[in-house]
Amino acid sequence: MIKKYNKEDIAVVWDAEKCTHAGFCARQLSEVFKPKERPWINTDHASKERIIEQVKKCPSGALTIEKI
Ligand code: SF4
Repeated sequence: MIKKYNKEDIAVVWDAEKCTHAGFCARQLSEVFKPKERPWINTDHASKERIIEQVKKCPSGALTIEKI
């Protein structure tokens, strides 16, 4: 399952099958990545730049950025 979450001119793309649920994203940017909520990624609470920075740190490659 792949889901997309828009922020300005980008989308955060999340591939559930690649996600190892290690939780780096939720620990390091908890305002945006909230595994217990639906939708679990809320892009309203951080800048685009900060979100991109965090996406790059995803160890499994589950998170990527797409230009929209
Ligand atoms: S950092 Fe990547 S692999 Fe880890 S929980 Fe977040 S999306 Fe999943």
